[in-house]
Amino acid sequence: LPIDIVTTRGDKRALVLVNPAGGSGRAYRMIMEHVIGIWAEAEFNHQLLITEYAGHARDFVQSLDLNEWSGIVVASGDGLLYEVINGLFSRNDWQDSLKLPIGHLPCGSGNAFITSIVRHSKQPIADSMSQYLIQCAVLIATHQVLPFDMAVIDTCDGQRVFSLLSVEWAVIADVDCDSEKYRFLGGTRFTVEAIKRILRPRVYNGYIDYLPYEVTDDTVQSVQITPNTTTAQLHRHLLPLNEPIPIDSSTSKWRRIDGPFAYVLVTSKSALSKDTVSSPQSSLADGYLTLQFIRTRDSSRMNLAKMFIGLDDGTHFDYDFVEWMPVRAFRIVPSETDGNLMVDGEKVPYGPLQGEVLPSIARCMGK
Ligand code: ADP
Ligand code: MG
Repeated sequence: LPIDIVTTRGDKRALVLVNPAGGSGRAYRMIMEHVIGIWAEAEFNHQLLITEYAGHARDFVQSLDLNEWSGIVVASGDGLLYEVINGLFSRNDWQDSLKLPIGHLPCGSGNAFITSIVRHSKQPIADSMSQYLIQCAVLIATHQVLPFDMAVIDTCDGQRVFSLLSVEWAVIADVDCDSEKYRFLGGTRFTVEAIKRILRPRVYNGYIDYLPYEVTDDTVQSVQITPNTTTAQLHRHLLPLNEPIPIDSSTSKWRRIDGPFAYVLVTSKSALSKDTVSSPQSSLADGYLTLQFIRTRDSSRMNLAKMFIGLDDGTHFDYDFVEWMPVRAFRIVPSETDGNLMVDGEKVPYGPLQGEVLPSIARCMGK
């Protein structure tokens, strides 16, 4: 893939959004201690803005003057990034606003986005959070910019949202959602909830339709965006969510996997948190989403435990019971009416949900 390296150097400043409620609540202190000095050395011009409420970052980027800033750095977890990117997509000038490079300082409990960027650069990930923060501050100060893939997601309440990271269903969604109450534990909160879920496994009925990704199929290479394209038109393969997808193999490239499932995950990045490699083969801009799942018939407690342990370094892909494939688009249709579905770690209404990859649609600070 052509690497689109531009630079954030110049007179403009980067907007740095600091979330006092992210992670263990020490973002501002950590930045003062570990980041500011490095950025002064590197002449990385910036201005800090401390968010005052959930939704502040979204409101702020919806009205910011694009000419004033070199980029946006989020000092929080993936939740604030999700706010920022969805704020940028909701602007009338979304095509220009998405050219602003997005940086991430790991100050949350998730931090999947920056971890996917660091993994992409083939650097080892620092163990301690303060060392990791320094590593990321340095990466941002290199003034380099890379494109990354996202996904457009339609939820059952008629909303359209934009995902940087993941769609979770079944056990992984339950772990992500129900571990919120342990957020004082930092990253460990996911482990605690996962153990509980392995001991009490559940069955998730429904099916998944998907459009396989084939490298040779150049009719579907990328989204054709014209200056008039709106975000409502930003897909090539999705049908309205209430229309069934034709899956007859003689006329359609879509395929169906029938449940029940134990674990379902769709990602556009390699990491799911600092210490989780969910899609080891995934790069920032490979042009596809990775769909992975475990069927209920393969989901013994032992297999679920192996999967969660394998997620630490991506070795869960070595097991036959973890099935995975690259896809362009997908639709998840749960049978039950109640449960957890998560987009980038945020809970969305439960019901049919569909998504499609948006290749290289946005830009991040990384190398
Ligand atoms: P974490 O990884 O720790 O969950 P996030 O970046 O996801 O960190 O942030 C958690 C939540 O905090 C997000 O949903 C965000 O909208 C919210 N938030 C942002 N600023 C504030 C604030 N000033 N007060 C309370 N919540 C906030
Ligand atoms: Mg969060």
